[in-house]
Parts: sequence; structure tokens; C-alpha cells
Amino acid sequence: MFTNSQILFDRARQVIPGGVNSPVRAFKSVGGSPIFMKSAKGAYMYDADGNAYIDYINSWGPMILGHAYEPVLKAIQEYAAYSTSFGAPTELEIKMAELIISMVPNIDMVRMVNSGTEACMSALRVARGFTGRNKFIKFEGNYHGHADSFLVSAGSGVATLDIQSIPGVTQAVANDTLTAPYNNLPAVQQLIADHPDSIAAIIVEPVAGNMGCILPQAGFLEGLRALCDEHGILLILDEVMTGFRLARGGAQERLNIKADLVTFGKIIGGGMPVGAFAGRREIMEWVAPVGKVYQAGTLSGNPIAMIAGYTMLSTLDNNPGIYEELEQKATYLVDGLKKVFTEAGIVHQVNQLGSMMSVHFAEYPIIDFSAAAGANNELFKRFFHAMLERGVYLPPSAFESWFLCNALTQEDLDKTIAAAKESIAVIAG
Ligand SMILES: *Cc1c(COP(=O)(O)O)cnc(C)c1O
Repeated sequence: MFTNSQILFDRARQVIPGGVNSPVRAFKSVGGSPIFMKSAKGAYMYDADGNAYIDYINSWGPMILGHAYEPVLKAIQEYAAYSTSFGAPTELEIKMAELIISMVPNIDMVRMVNSGTEACMSALRVARGFTGRNKFIKFEGNYHGHADSFLVSAGSGVATLDIQSIPGVTQAVANDTLTAPYNNLPAVQQLIADHPDSIAAIIVEPVAGNMGCILPQAGFLEGLRALCDEHGILLILDEVMTGFRLARGGAQERLNIKADLVTFGKIIGGGMPVGAFAGRREIMEWVAPVGKVYQAGTLSGNPIAMIAGYTMLSTLDNNPGIYEELEQKATYLVDGLKKVFTEAGIVHQVNQLGSMMSVHFAEYPIIDFSAAAGANNELFKRFFHAMLERGVYLPPSAFESWFLCNALTQEDLDKTIAAAKESIAVIAG
């Protein structure tokens, strides 16, 4: 007897590489066959076999208010009637830019793109144009999308697949990508000393979400800021996950850190394919058509995507209490899970900031990629499947952050903790 998901997966593999349109969906890291979804509402997803799951991925972040959020659905329906694309400017794009600039600190201008990948790729190009330098620094286990230059030590999807060097990325491109361990300032200092006057940018996930959820240690981001100022390097904060999630103004607001360029994705599109990069006027005016750094997109600023994102961001902007509620929910869940693991005698680390979190089965703190990779990820695999069987959908890899949505109720959280207790009893027993 096969489930509908298994039948769909077999069919998908004939016509889509690996049966999925993005690798982490394939369950490679946890084994087994991916679940095909049919619908979702609030904190729940429903699969092709009619099973319900409490969702802790929330489309990898965008669904911060829960799935099928009514005001977003309504706005999409209304705007679709005007046309799904113009290829000419609209007032909606100005409203979107004005709203983003009013919510996010330290930015004067924003350019809309269609994904987080494009946002990071374009921000790096602008940094190179602005500084006239070619090299940049990224951190092991940080993910900045799948553009060539970033596919070095790129965390989650890439780590999960265990691709050491990526076929298709030329050595010449890889040579301009310098990497340091996350939370390691001396390593960054050394790279800067080794490559004087040739580093355009440091790009960093201010809270890393692509190797589990890993917090910046005290002084790390401040140290990067100081190094950038000292050496004429631009600091790019990749806020594709953290933007509009850790606070209205993202990690810049929450952690009080100033970026030169910021990249967005995920929440900014309210579930539609949207990304953006933003920064101070003097930097952003290097972007075409004002400046010479070329960057374009046929569907960029798409009206349906803009109204979905605008509706989502306005809701967050007008209801700052959402962030406190989300954090309380996450803290309740974290405390509950820690209690379950402790009572069962399972060594564990649960990392959390705001509504981002992750569970690592290790006895030492998880502060960088090698720590995350050294945890008992076999146990995570079994935990993932035991939770899935009990109707809880966790990210299908220990190298991914969990994302909570505000549609979660106390009852959902208690169900999740109860499922964890049962799961641990079964897999550790
Ligand atoms: C998801 C993600 C990206 C890439 O965004 P896509 O929309 O998937 O291209 C870039 N940076 C970070 C930090 C991300 O989490």
C-alpha cells in the first residue's frame, strides 16, 4: 500500500530532478519520502492523504501570520482583477518601498527583486561596484541563495547534500569568495590582513538560520561593523530570514546593528516570490538606471506579489505586539522541549531568538557550522520522523531553523510538546 504522497513522489521524480523544485524539500537529510501538501490554514498544513500537521516551517518563514491569512488572500484576489503584470511602474511599488523604508532602520532606498537569491547576488554586485573591489567574506554554514559566488560552505541544502565543491561553479568565481567560521572575528581579521584593499563586502546572516538557528555571540556583529568601518568594506546583512521576523526592523533593530546594505526575501512577499535589497542613498544610487551597476527584472515589483507583501508588512507594522506574542510562544515551546529532553536524559541544545529556534542533540553549545555538524543528527532524523507521524512538521534537516507563526495556539504548542515526549520515548527507548 502506497500513500498518495509516495505515488506523487514517484511521478514527480520522472519529470522534476529529485521530484522537487528546491532540494531541502526532498527529505534527503532525514530519509524517507517527502509529504506532498494540498492546502494549509493557520498553523496547519494538510497533505495529499488528508493528514494534518502543525507546521514549524511556515514556507521557510514567510507565513509568519499563519497560512492562507485572510487579508492577504483578499488583497491578491482584488488586485488580480486589474492584471497580473504590467511591465511598467505602478503606485503600489512606491507604497511598498515607502513602507519598507519606514519599518527598517538605516535604509533610504530599496530595489525589489523576485527572490532572496537575487537580492544577495545584486547586493554583492552593488558592493563591488561601489568599492571597486572584487573579493568578499562569507561565513561557513551561512546561505545567501544559489548564485555562483555564494555556493561555498553554504549550509543547509548544500551541507545536507554533502557537496564539497559544486560542479558548475568556476574556480575563478570561488577564488573571490573568502570564508570564515561563524562567530569567529579573529578569522575575519586574518582574511582582511591577507587580502589588503581587495575586500568589497562582508555578508552575514545576523542570526544564522541555515545551519540550525545559531545566534551571533556578544560582540561578533559589532566587531564586523568595526572592521568594515576600519577597512572601507561594506557590511551586508542578509535579512532574508530575520527581516520582519525578529522585529519590524529585523535584526538591525533587534540587535542594534547598522548595515550598509540589507537583503530581504521570505516574509517580504507574504508567500509570493519576492526579494529586495536596500541601503543608504549614496550606495543605492549606484544601481541602474541612476548608476552603472546593472540590475533588472521583467517581473520585479509584480503587482500581485507587491500587494501580498504590502498587506503582510502593514499588518506587522500596525501590530507590533505580534513580535512579543511570537516570542512568548517560542519560549514556551523551547522550555517545554528542554524539559522533555532533560527528563529523558537526552543531551540537547535548543537555540532561540524571537520566533526562530532549533534543536541540536549535543552537549556543547552550537555556535558555528562545525558544532552543528558534530551533533547527533542521526537522532534528529529519528526525532523528525517520530514527530511527523504524530502530526508535527519540523524542518526536514537539523541544519534548518524552525519558524513559528502567530496562528499557533497554546493547545498546538502543548500538542507539540506532548508529541515530543512520545517521540523521545519511542526513539530513545
Ligand atoms: C532563503 C534564503 C536566501 C535565498 O532566498 P530564495 O528566495 O530562496 O532565493 C538567502 N539568504 C538567506 C539567509 C535565506 O534564508
